Amino acid sequence: MSGEASNVRVAVRCRPMSAKEEAMGCKPCVSLHGATVTITPPSDSSEDRAKEAKSFTYDHAFGDESTQAGVYEALGQPIVGQALQGYNVTIFAYGQTGSGKSHTMMGGSGDSAGIIPLLNKRLFEAVGATTSAETKFMLTVSYLEVYNEVIHDLLNPVKEKMLRIREHPDLGIYVEGLCELVVHTADDVLKLIEQGGAVRRVAATNMNERSSRSHSCFSVKLAQKTTQDVGGGIARETVLNSKLNLVDLAGSERAKKTGASGDTLREGASINKSLMCLGNVITALSEGKKRGHIPYRDSTLTRLLQESLGGNARTLMIAAVSPADYNCDETLSTLRYAHRAK
Ligand code: ADP
Repeated sequence: MSGEASNVRVAVRCRPMSAKEEAMGCKPCVSLHGATVTITPPSDSSEDRAKEAKSFTYDHAFGDESTQAGVYEALGQPIVGQALQGYNVTIFAYGQTGSGKSHTMMGGSGDSAGIIPLLNKRLFEAVGATTSAETKFMLTVSYLEVYNEVIHDLLNPVKEKMLRIREHPDLGIYVEGLCELVVHTADDVLKLIEQGGAVRRVAATNMNERSSRSHSCFSVKLAQKTTQDVGGGIARETVLNSKLNLVDLAGSERAKKTGASGDTLREGASINKSLMCLGNVITALSEGKKRGHIPYRDSTLTRLLQESLGGNARTLMIAAVSPADYNCDETLSTLRYAHRAK
C-alpha cells in the first residue's frame, strides 16, 4: 500500500453464528488467517456460482472470538489522536442487515459497548487532558439521515423537511439549517445519539424498515483554540478544526434488490446509487494520485462527506459479515466491495 492509500483503512469483522443459524443447521463459510478472509461457497451452490474458495486480504480482520474492546483498540484508539491533531476522520460500517454493523459501531452496555461509545469516552478524556489555560475546546454534534438521497435532521425532527447541501467559498460544504448542538461531556453525546436514533426508529416504523434502508451520519466537530502570548501584551490565537463522522450505511443487500415498483423501486435505486458512489469514491481515493477525478458529486452521501474523505482525511471502513453459508452470496459481495476500497 502506498503512503497515499494508507489514509483509507479497511477492516472485516465476521460475527459468530447466531443461535437461529445454528438451529437451521447452517455451516460456516468464512475463515480467517491473519488479515486474510477466505470464503468457501457451500458445495450445493447453484451451477452458475463459482464454487472455489476466494481469499481477500485487508488491513485488519476480526473473527467470532474478537471482543468489542479488542476491535476498539485496533481500529478506534488511533482515531482519538488523529481527531485531536486536526484530521477529519470518517468511519463507515458496511454489510448486509444482521451482519453486526450496529453491534460493532454502537454495541450494548458494559463489555459489549462498541466503537462509538468507547471512542466518545476516550475523546472526552483526551480533550480534558489537553485543555489548559491556553488551549480550549468546543465540541458540537449533528445527526442526519439520508433517505432516498434526501437529508433529514435527526436532532431537529419537528420540521421533517428536506435539508440542502450548500457550498461556501470559506466554510466549504455544509448542510443549510442543520442543527448543531454544543456538548460538554461524553454523556451529552450518548444522549443525542439515543435521541436521534429514536427519531430514526419512529421513521422506520412508519416507513417499513426505513433504518435498514437509510444512511445516517453522526458528526462531532472539534474546534481547538490555542492562545499564545507573543510578548508586548499581544496574544496569537490559532484554531484547529476537525470532524469525526460516524456513518451507519443502509444494509448492503438493498444495493441489489430494486423491488417491484413505486417507492421501493426508487428506494432501491437511490440506495444503490449512494453505496455505489461511495465505493467508487473510496476506490478512487485508495488508488491515490493515479486518478485525478474523485466522483464526490454523484450522490448525496459522498457530496456530504467530500471534505472528510480524501486529502488528509482518514477513512476507516468496517465491513461486517455473517459466517453462515446461507448468506454466502451477500458475504462475498461485501468482501468484494470492501476489497475495492483497499
Ligand atoms: P446490523 O446492524 O448489521 O443489522 P446487528 O449489529 O444488529 O446487525 O447484529 C445482528 C445480531 O447479531 C444482533 O443480535 C447482534 O447483537 C448480534 N451480533 C452481531 N455481531 C456480533 C458479535 N461480534 N458478537 C456477538 N453478537 C453479535
